[in-house]
Amino acid sequence: MATASNAPRPYCGRFAPSPSGPLHLGSLATALGSYFDAKTHAGLWLLRIEDIDPPREQVGASELILTALAAHGLISSEPTVWQHQHTEHYQSICNSFLALKLAFYCECSRQQQDHRGRCVNDCQSRALSPNGHNLRVQLPTTDLDFTDRIHGPITAPIESFDNAIIWRKNGLPSYLLAVVADDIAAGITHVVRGEDLLHDTHRQIALYRLLNAAPPRYAHLPLVTHADGHKLSKQTGAAPIDPTCASMNIRQALSWLRPDWDLPEPDASLDELLAFGLEHWSLPE
Ligand SMILES: [Zn+2]
Repeated sequence: MATASNAPRPYCGRFAPSPSGPLHLGSLATALGSYFDAKTHAGLWLLRIEDIDPPREQVGASELILTALAAHGLISSEPTVWQHQHTEHYQSICNSFLALKLAFYCECSRQQQDHRGRCVNDCQSRALSPNGHNLRVQLPTTDLDFTDRIHGPITAPIESFDNAIIWRKNGLPSYLLAVVADDIAAGITHVVRGEDLLHDTHRQIALYRLLNAAPPRYAHLPLVTHADGHKLSKQTGAAPIDPTCASMNIRQALSWLRPDWDLPEPDASLDELLAFGLEHWSLPE
């Protein structure tokens, strides 16, 4: 008989925007993909605001994102999680890595570190002080391959990510640490997100290994792009979506997610479009 720990965990997915600006069509499409996948698995769909980088945040963006998602019928199964409330948890993970001598302070500047973002000056052997230095963790380099539900098998690069910043010298946790720590804490089993994060996934899996946690199943959705092919993002000036035009926005997002779908009539309501998406959504398991 299988023990409880061997039993498959119930599906738990999430959408985790950073509040660097309001929701645009690209982030709506990603939210919708993760929502459909959770709901078609009768799973939970959680919202997490990744507000760990105040200098890059836009005042009021979190509220705009949550209001816009709600206007599109995308409601979290549980209260919204805010990463800024988890600082102590991230810090305690760093402390445990330090105690195990798996973490070290590094003085390499962004310009000095190599193209994979690694320490290049053997800072680990020099036992530097915390002052003004990034904290890095030594990552495992094996067993990092994974099979993406959309892209298929993804092999880890031969030149591995053997260390990465987990706490930055400006006093803030890194995205890598926060995203993995929070997905583990929330029991996330499935991550459906944009394919710009596909090649950061090996580093995240390495951190899961270090934390003795099972990585989730991943699906990386195609990115919504501008006409010139560049990713639609806050940085490339993507226009915020107008929450008062929810059905039109959902229709556009559906067209991006599934160009092959024959969408309902143009006058279809928001509820009809969401129901259509739920009925037709499928990704390889
Ligand atoms: Zn270094």
